[in-house]
Amino acid sequence: MEQILSGTLAQFNEAADQIGLADEMRDYLTSFKTVFQTQFPVEMDDGTMRMFEGIRVLHNTARGPTKGGLRYAANLGVDEAKALAMLMTWKCAVVDVPFGGAKGGVAVDPRAISANELQNLTRRFTSEIIPIIGPDKDIPAPDMGTNPQIMAWIMDTYSMNNGYTIPGVVTGKPLALGGSEGRYEATGRGIVDVTEEHLRAEGGVDGRRVAVQGFGNVGGVTAKLIRQAGAKVTHISDKETALHHPAGIDTAAAYAFVQGGGTLAAWREQYARDVEVVSADSVLTADVDVLIPAAVETVLTEANAAAVRAPLIVEGANGPTTPEADTIFRERGIVVIPDILANAGGVTVSYFEWVQARQFQRWSEDRVNQELQRIMARAYQVVSARCPTGTGTCTLRQAANWVAIDRVVEALTLRGIYP
Ligand code: NAD
Repeated sequence: MEQILSGTLAQFNEAADQIGLADEMRDYLTSFKTVFQTQFPVEMDDGTMRMFEGIRVLHNTARGPTKGGLRYAANLGVDEAKALAMLMTWKCAVVDVPFGGAKGGVAVDPRAISANELQNLTRRFTSEIIPIIGPDKDIPAPDMGTNPQIMAWIMDTYSMNNGYTIPGVVTGKPLALGGSEGRYEATGRGIVDVTEEHLRAEGGVDGRRVAVQGFGNVGGVTAKLIRQAGAKVTHISDKETALHHPAGIDTAAAYAFVQGGGTLAAWREQYARDVEVVSADSVLTADVDVLIPAAVETVLTEANAAAVRAPLIVEGANGPTTPEADTIFRERGIVVIPDILANAGGVTVSYFEWVQARQFQRWSEDRVNQELQRIMARAYQVVSARCPTGTGTCTLRQAANWVAIDRVVEALTLRGIYP
């Protein structure tokens, strides 16, 4: 996990070199406002007490309060939280929502404890981080291993400690507690919006052949919505199964089945016998117009980058492309729409949820989707203007980093140093 921090810093330093960032600003932006670590007790169901380790890292507050997920994962470490917090700063800046980046969580496998223990752990961890979170300070959200129920417990614990209901302290809440319409689909929808914008001059996504790796929140929704937009999704996969159909797969039906608790293998078995089972690797190397890795990190590597046939890769997952693979794609003229731009739809609708919470408003799903489309399209335009395609002198990843760093530096410079 140390690797993720060194990789994130290396990417930042490369972008900083390219825009000639002053050393003092470089120091500032590779520093962290708060690195909070706590060890706290939880009473388990059998009456015993167990200690857990919690982390919350706030990277930078120049553009506003910090925002980022809380993950519950057995191997969570502070370097991972630092790297992901920094990436959130850049992601928020790219889509121009008024937040800095944060990340954190608890080192725990949530599947290894009971629902009651999970609630005890969440409420105690929340009380530990109360001094640093808040709707004007730092606003957690779900991430790996956490969900809307956990956000509800955090909101309740925070509110109880303040004496009144404060829905703006977290996003990703259940709808009944002020969660936003459209939040669940936001990341996938944003991916489709950005892809549409990139291909606009050549007719958009309509009729394109698409391969999507991963069929969870990001991959499943993307596969469903891009098909709705007219694309032909020829390849999909989850952890166990990869599927292919040259005429396109009914991803809406497959996704509805998976959301009901099924697997892609079971869906094919019951409803789509004409869909062929293929090897996992063949999704990444499929002969398609658009490849969307939307499962896990570092799937596109030195080992398979030369075999990728799609001319366009849209990063749905965080960090699916290694730096080595990135270089190969660049040399081969394959365009990569980077994660901090492509999958920023989730944090964008989290921002809408926060705005609604602050104003006690409820936006319709149509309004959420329209505002999301507007923000994603504008972000794409700003980034692509920094690196016009076809010039071969830069990549959209570099351009997204330049835009993000410039925006944070501008805010820092305008604010100055206190005192
Ligand atoms: P998820 O757990 O809902 O889904 C993950 C999917 O990937 C599942 O279908 C799983 O079976 C599949 N998968 C896992 N390993 C695989 C493999 N080796 N090959 C093929 N499929 C595999 O997770 P998610 O929320 O969809 O997140 C996916 C990625 O997107 C992660 O990198 C996450 O950090 C990133 N992301 C998520 C959001 C969000 O709003 N959920 C926002 C931004 C970025």
